[in-house]
Amino acid sequence: KDTAIGVVGLGAMGLGMATTLASNGFAVKGFDLSDSRRNLAAEGGVTPCETLADVFAGTEFIVFSLPTAKDVAAVVEANLEALKGAADRVVIIDTSTSEPDVSRDLAAGLNALGHGFLDAPVSGGPAGAASGKLTMMIGGSDADVARAAPAIDAMSAKALHVGPSGAGNVAKLVNNLLAAAHMVTTGEGLKLALSAGLEPEQALKVLNAASGKSMISDVHFPTWVMNDRFDSGFTMGLMRKDVRLASELAARTGAALPLSVEVARLWAESPLDNADDFTRMGAFRPAANDNR
Ligand code: NAD
Repeated sequence: KDTAIGVVGLGAMGLGMATTLASNGFAVKGFDLSDSRRNLAAEGGVTPCETLADVFAGTEFIVFSLPTAKDVAAVVEANLEALKGAADRVVIIDTSTSEPDVSRDLAAGLNALGHGFLDAPVSGGPAGAASGKLTMMIGGSDADVARAAPAIDAMSAKALHVGPSGAGNVAKLVNNLLAAAHMVTTGEGLKLALSAGLEPEQALKVLNAASGKSMISDVHFPTWVMNDRFDSGFTMGLMRKDVRLASELAARTGAALPLSVEVARLWAESPLDNADDFTRMGAFRPAANDNR
């Protein structure tokens, strides 16, 4: 019999994860607050559920792909009674970019009930989710990682178990802080090129063949920024959340990160409007950048 797995949150990332799991032979149940996302999942071979409780009922593994730590905690809380009474052990694989402290608390609470919780945030965007080629950074116990391995393997090309609960989200916040910084520094580098008479396209070619290269310069600039496209699949609100969480983590741990503070400010203040818009990476395009 196919292993039952639930996916809560069928957005840009969760939908691709759910359909990937379905095409890997899992019996996937999906839930989202939005009807249209549930309908899309049904088209991809996922059984849509009317309620959150239906996803949890009789399901061994539950994947979360929710916007914030608050949403993650709320979904666990809403199912707590059911989890207390569950006959079988449930492992929650939380792929949301969440907060290390929240992950630790949820894991401790669920472990005490005999259940597992992994913070397992991801990198690779909607395309990585839909192709099962995400990079996953995992915090949690060896036993839970081993149990969840078939689901983790289906969703990811690289799964790195980096430490105990919370460690996955620490790694993810570090990663996204760098991605946010690379957007700014790559934009500024190309702006310098332009101001000194070198075409940004030529400068970008050099960066990508030399030590200035990053995934942002290699993928994001050629695909989106240089084409003035915004539809990366990652919203402004989510990127702002990530840089804010990284800054808060730095403040709590006492790590002084002067450049990152400035990066967080630029993302928070960039002349952009709706948090639900896709990341307005065009704002970091050299010519569009002259007002800064
Ligand atoms: P999204 O906004 O597209 O999807 C989130 C989905 O969760 C929405 O469909 C929403 O309706 C649903 N939802 C919210 N609260 C819910 C609840 N209580 N119950 C059920 N469904 C609920 O966001 P996304 O881009 O898919 O991102 C999800 C998470 O993954 C975020 O934490 C984000 O930071 C992270 N992430 C996103 C990307 C990306 O490129 N989009 C990449 C890596 C990580």
